[in-house]
Parts: sequence; structure tokens; C-alpha cells
Amino acid sequence: YNPELIRNISIIAHIDHGKTTLVDRILELTHSIDERKMKDQYLDMMDIERERGITIKSQPVKIYFNSKDGNKYEINIIDTPGHVDFTYEVSRSLAACEGAVLLVDASQGVEAQTVTNTYLAIENDLEIIAALNKIDLPNANPEETMLELDDLIGLDVDSIKTISGKTGEGVEELLETIVSKIPPPTSKGTSKDKLKALIFDAIYDRYKGIIINTRVFSGTIKKGDKIKLMATGKDYEVIELGIFHPEMTESDSLSAGEVGYIVAGIKNIEEAKVGDTITSSLDPISKPLEGYQEVKPMVYAGLYPGVPDYYEELRKALDKLKLNDASFSFIPENSPAMGFGFRCGFLGLLHMEVIRERIEREFELAVILTAPSVVYKAKLRNSEIVEINNPAEYPEPDSIDKVFEPYAKLEIITPPEYMGNLINLAQVEKRGEFLSVSNAGKNRVVLHFEIPLAELIFDFFDKMKAISRGYASMDYEFLDYRQSDLIKVKILVNKEPVDALSFIAHKSKAYETARKVVDKLQDLIPKHQFEIPVQGYADGRIIARSTIKAFRKDVLAKCYGGDITRKMKLLEKQKAGKKKMREIGNVNIPQDAFLALLRIN
Ligand code: GDP
Repeated sequence: YNPELIRNISIIAHIDHGKTTLVDRILELTHSIDERKMKDQYLDMMDIERERGITIKSQPVKIYFNSKDGNKYEINIIDTPGHVDFTYEVSRSLAACEGAVLLVDASQGVEAQTVTNTYLAIENDLEIIAALNKIDLPNANPEETMLELDDLIGLDVDSIKTISGKTGEGVEELLETIVSKIPPPTSKGTSKDKLKALIFDAIYDRYKGIIINTRVFSGTIKKGDKIKLMATGKDYEVIELGIFHPEMTESDSLSAGEVGYIVAGIKNIEEAKVGDTITSSLDPISKPLEGYQEVKPMVYAGLYPGVPDYYEELRKALDKLKLNDASFSFIPENSPAMGFGFRCGFLGLLHMEVIRERIEREFELAVILTAPSVVYKAKLRNSEIVEINNPAEYPEPDSIDKVFEPYAKLEIITPPEYMGNLINLAQVEKRGEFLSVSNAGKNRVVLHFEIPLAELIFDFFDKMKAISRGYASMDYEFLDYRQSDLIKVKILVNKEPVDALSFIAHKSKAYETARKVVDKLQDLIPKHQFEIPVQGYADGRIIARSTIKAFRKDVLAKCYGGDITRKMKLLEKQKAGKKKMREIGNVNIPQDAFLALLRIN
């Protein structure tokens, strides 16, 4: 153990910019796993995970690098999540490091999220090494990408490396730069001080329970030690600990500056919170590491089994997912329209997609997700503050003093020719406020906005991509709550309010959306024996209306005189058809109608 020779780093990169390929090349170059195993197992395992698109973060790896300076360095590479929803997790992974490699695909240029994550690294006082990747590609443009990095992050162009993770060009020099430029962890504490370690990740294992991934800042942890997790104040005994080389390998101890894992009989992922500090139960430190936060869901949606019979299976699947994901939450919900299901909380839309994908792939259950909703806040006339994550629970208008909605800071990096239309999208269509534009190299600009989160979570990303022919990239971050002119629009079918169809909208959009909803319902609800009015109701009055005309003839009329089996078959069919309907009052609304409407917003 020589902490002077340890380097702890992260690689910041946009998806597809080549992080996995670079790490594989580094593993190969440093002979961290033998070549056959690499081909047959390591890459395959990653491919399967990647193809599934559900890996949020892979486990850290430790490699040993023989530098030209004669030393053998230990480099820990800590992965950061590649999704915009996991900014907090990214910041905690970065907090475990002294340096970061900023990896940018030189044929693509810098993406918005990369810029945000680099700023997080700078805030954490990390030494940044920029590397332009894929320089073997004929369309790589390292000069332009360097200018972008200079404009966006203010990096010294001369220090930027050029590499190819594919051919291996420049990778050894990159490792030399890492060990020479990134400081050792020694300035942050020694093994003689009291125990202080950061939880930067936690995963659930069927046999071992929760496995904590940790970075030790000071002190030493050994098997059998009693440790305390400071956020909860709970004590545990260390059953096993070790390092990642690259698979989990048991060791005797973990000391200041080292990265490894701990198993301590923790059953519940909510006890091992990312960002929490581990200390000794017998000789605790008084103040935990800075930066710990409780993560709160930003987006809620109803989740229902595709077939009602699978409710129990779905509950089991959610329980299992929850074991591994402390930021995911769910409670049972019962909607007259959708039946039994769950109200789920997610960090953001991508998180929601990841969970849906996992339920479908890992548990083979078809599910229905209702339209996502942000968390609104209302101050009632009696001064009480309530959080609203479901339109059905919106307080009565008379009881509300003020309503607040979450805002986000939005950055879009784009070629300048799409600027006008993108500003139009954010500002006119999506209620955003355009703040400023700055240059990013010669061929791109950065647009800065503040925008209601609710507007971002519907189809913003798709529209941005369509407008910019795929060239623009975006990143956003929760900013604050702002007072807003929101109202709840109720939808009445045959004069009965249907909760699952109600929605919260900004006043400026309530009419238009209500209009779309009632028109759509007119198409989707089949004709009945009687006329059915469909109405949008808000602000104490009807704001939109359509009518479903009555049948002219009875269904059976055309069978009159026909043979009896045919009549029976038709009745059978009707019965089957009815099953898929939800009866609201005396009107049957097909399930499809609910789903189609959820997408209108
Ligand atoms: P990640 O999403 O950042 O982990 O990206 P990957 O490592 O999976 O790389 C994305 C794609 O780029 C893959 O098809 C790689 O084969 C390719 N790629 C990665 N590095 C290079 C490189 O240096 N040169 C070229 N030509 N392709 C690369």
C-alpha cells in the first residue's frame, strides 16, 4: 500500500463517444485480464448489457500501470452514469476521484451533457484531462473539437490529447498523462486518521445482500470492523471487503485513497445511500463528507399491468427492481379507469424508460405507463403546502391560494442554422425563456433557457432532434419552483368526471389541450344507444365540448331473421369487446382511449 502511487479517475463521455472501448483497450494494454477471457467473456458481458440499454453504471475497475518513470501505479476507474437524470450520482462518483478524463468523439463534437458533467468535475476540484477520441476516423475533426472545448469549458488547447480507443493510438500516452498530472489521494487524509469513506454506489446481490462501492478518504477498514453509516446512524459489521481487479476480489483491508467494495449484512438499499459517509462505530468522525443529498423523484406516472391478472406479478417485479434502485419508488394506486396499478416516482424520463424496459425485459411483463407528471406544489388558503404528483389529487380550486411548478435550466448545443427554430420551440411552444447564446467553436452555438420541467418531459427531446436533423443535443437540470397559472382540467363523459383523463395545464394551454382531448375521445369512444356529451371543464365552466352521436340501429337488428348461431357469435364477440372497456357511469370507454389521450399533452 503506497497511496502516492494511487490515481482515482472517472471518464466523462457522452454515450457512444467510446468510453467502453477505451476502458477495454486500457484493460488489454495493462494486461489486467488475459486476452482470451477478454474476448470471450468481458466484452460479451458488456455487449449483452449494452444491447439491453439498461446499465446505469458499471462497476469500477482497478488496473496497474507500469509508467516510464519506473513506478507501478494503481489506477481506479470509476464509472459515471450516462443519463441526464443521474446528475447527483455523477457528482458523487466524481467526488470519489482526484481527476477525470474528458473523452470527446472528434467526429461528433462536444455534447451538452458532457459540458454539464465536466463542470461538476471542476466543482469537485478534479484535474481534467481532455482526450479527443476516434481520431482514426476519416471524418474526425480534432481542430474544430478543440475550439469547442476551449469555448465551452475554457480548456487549454495545447494540453488536449488525441487518441483512438479502437486502434490504441495515444492510449499509453494518455495513461502517462493521468499518472503525471492527476494528484495522488494523499492530500485528503491518511490511513492513520479516523475512518472516513464515501459510498458512491450500492448494488443488491442475492447472496451477499447490499454491496457498497466505496472510496476511503482516511483511516482503514478491515474485516470484522464495526462501521456506522452517518445518514441513518445505523451500525454494521464488515463481513467482506475487497477490490475490483477487474472482478470483485477479496482483500484484507481498504485504506485511505483506495477504492473497493464492502459487504456488511445490509439488507435494504435505502440504508446504503449514495453520497453517505462511512465511519467507525467505535471512533466516529464528527462531520460527514460534504455533498450528501436525499434524492427525490421529479416525475411520477401510473404503471399498470398490461393484463389486470398480472397485478401481483408486477408488484413482485417492482419489489425486485427497488432492491437495486433506491431512487425508484412506488405505491399502489387504484383508478376507476385503469384498475389496480402503481403510482411510481422517477428521477426523470430516462429513468422511467429504464425501469419500463427492465420490467419488460427482465420480468417479461407488458405494462402500461400513464402520462408522466411533474410534482406541483400548492399553497392552500389555510397556509398548508401540498405536493401534487397526480392530477386526480389536485386540490379544489377554491381551497388554493397559489400553485407552483418546477423549472429547469436547459442548455442546447446546436449548429447555428437551427437556432431560430429551436428558440421558437422552447419559447413559443414550450413556455420557456431564452436567456442567451454563446459560441462553441466555429460550427456550433449553445443556447441557454429556463423552462417549465413539465414542458420538457413530454416530447421536447424528439422535437429538438427533428428540428435539428439530429444534430442538437440538450441537457437540463432542476432549478427551482415558480408560481404559475395552472389549472386542473376535468374531462366529463356523459356529465360524469373521469379522473384518469383529467390533467393539469398552464392556463395558456388549457383550452387547446382540452379541445384536443374531447375531439380525440369523440373518435375513440364507440357509439352507444344514446348521445354522449364529452366536455372539458375548468375555471368553473365548460371550455371544450364534443358529442358522440347515438346509434341509429340496434346491433342485433341486422341479424333479425338470420340463423341463431350467427346471432350467438355476435353476442359472444360483443361480450369480449366489452371486457376491454371501462364502464364509466353508463358509458363504455375503451382502454385505448385512455392511452391515446395520455400522449396528447
Ligand atoms: P460508449 O457508449 O461511450 O461506451 O461507446 P463505445 O465504446 O461503445 O463506442 C461506441 C461506438 O464507437 C462503437 O461502435 C465503437 O466500436 C466505436 N468506437 C469507439 N472508439 C472508437 C475509436 O477510437 N475509433 C473508431 N473508429 N470507433 C470507435
